[in-house]
Formats: sequence, C-alpha cells, structure tokens
Amino acid sequence: MQVISAIEAVRQARASYTTLGLVPTMGYLHAGHLSLVRQAHQECGAVAVSIFVNPTQFGPNEDFGRYPRDMQRDLSLLEAEGVDLVFTPQPSEIYPVGFGTEVVLAAAEEVLEGAARPGHFRGVATVVCKLLNILQPTRAYFGQKDAQQTVVVRQMVRDLNMPYEIVVAPTIREADGLALSSRNTYLNAEQRQSATVLYRALRAASERYATGERSAAVLREVMRTVLASEPAVQPEYVSVADPLSLRELEAISQGALLSMAVRLGSVRLIDNMVLG
Ligand code: AMP
Repeated sequence: MQVISAIEAVRQARASYTTLGLVPTMGYLHAGHLSLVRQAHQECGAVAVSIFVNPTQFGPNEDFGRYPRDMQRDLSLLEAEGVDLVFTPQPSEIYPVGFGTEVVLAAAEEVLEGAARPGHFRGVATVVCKLLNILQPTRAYFGQKDAQQTVVVRQMVRDLNMPYEIVVAPTIREADGLALSSRNTYLNAEQRQSATVLYRALRAASERYATGERSAAVLREVMRTVLASEPAVQPEYVSVADPLSLRELEAISQGALLSMAVRLGSVRLIDNMVLG
C-alpha cells in the first residue's frame, strides 16, 4: 500500500493502474467507509482512498478543529482491506497560496444541508472536483448517508463533463439503526441511546408510506412526532423532498427522499431514507 501526500507523486502512482476506484474520505474510518472500499475492490482493478479533512467545507462555528483524526489506525484498516493507494494531502497541498477557484452549485445551497450549512457544498464540490482531477479514477464511490452530497457530485460531474463514473452505496448502520458516522464518537452514552431516534423516525414514515400515505406533510409530521419522543433531540430540519431536485414535496408520486438533521447537545447528526 502506497501512502502519498504530494499531488505529483500520487499522479505518478495512479498511472500504473488501469481501472481505479476512488473512495474520498475525511478519515476516522468506520465500517461505512470500508463498505465503499470493498465495493470499489469488486468493481475496479485497484483502489485508492483519500483522507483529507477538508477545511473549506466546515463553517466557522463547526467542528473542523475537533473533527476526529487517527491516521495510524486508518492506515492499518486500509492496509487490511488491501487498498493500493492512500492519498493524504496537507491543506497547503490542496489549497496553495494563490488558490482561487470554487465550484458552486447554487441550487444546492438553497435546500437541506446546503441551506443549513452555508458554504458547505462549495467546499465539498471544489475538493471532490480536485480529488477527481488529481486521481482520475474510473469510478468514485460515495455513501447514501450523505444524500445531498451524492446529488451535488453527480450534477457537477454531469455539468462539467468530468469523465468519472459516480457510484452511490447504501448507508451502513449499527444494529440499532444508527447510521455509522465519524461524528458518532462525539456522543456520550445517553446521547448514543437517544440517537437511535433518527432511524426510528425514518422507519415510522416509511411504514406510513408503505401503507399508502402519500402526503409529504403527514410524513413530516410522523417523523417530527417520533423525534419529539426524545427531548434531548432538537430537529434542525425534517424533509420529504424530490430525490433529484431536493425540493420539498406536497404529494409523493415518484418516490421521495426522507431526510433530517438534528442536534443532540453540541453534536449534529443527519440521516435519510429513500422511498419508492
Ligand atoms: P466522510 O469521511 O464522512 O466524508 O465520508 C466519506 C464517504 O463515506 C462519503 O461518501 C460518505 O457518504 C460515506 N459514508 C459515511 N458514513 C457512511 C455510512 N454509514 N454508510 C455508507 N457510507 C458512508
């Protein structure tokens, strides 16, 4: 396994592979990340993982400084998975003095995570664009856990004619339904218990949908009611949106994306489920 932090060197290493799968991450790896690595292995001759806590996708009052990091542990997990290449750039490598280009998907900034986290998706789109251009993978793998991110990346690749296939893999969950996230490490024992309410709320709404309910307002209310059963959980948004435009729906005809962001103390959690 080659671990490389310089752009020129990683491009040279990449040149020795024909089909390459790229899994972009911010590190502090868990089974969700590793499921993307395994899928990449099945579909590509070689697998690259990037580990980069991208400063530009964090807002000024967000958790960039305290985001969990453990490079040694991450590298041993990736070594055990048989990963070929790990790209571990420093911020100064990605954003050198004089850097001045941003990829902006204006519509994404108006809804869901984009509206709740100003500037987040220009940070994401810009860094993913750079990682794709640096490593030029055959396929790049993203988790459904970050539903709007998958929509943003797909649209960027389409709009800018980037010749990379984007693959989206299912959300990996704990046995009690909590979606795996590097940020789960912030939760204390009590909050960890309460955090299962996100999945319970999504399940309750999907069960109502399965019994024929097609009113988005009713499904939002179902989710809000379940979330309210955990007083420690403060909903930031609860959404039933079109899976492509991410605009809020009134009636569901062609499927929907259920999604939510909540706060548990100082910890912010998101989760989602696709209907139909
Ligand atoms: P992150 O390190 O949080 O930026 O995540 C890197 C990639 O792993 C993103 O494409 C995430 O959507 C994906 N990912 C994170 N958590 C999960 C999960 N629980 N299941 C599947 N994919 C995930």
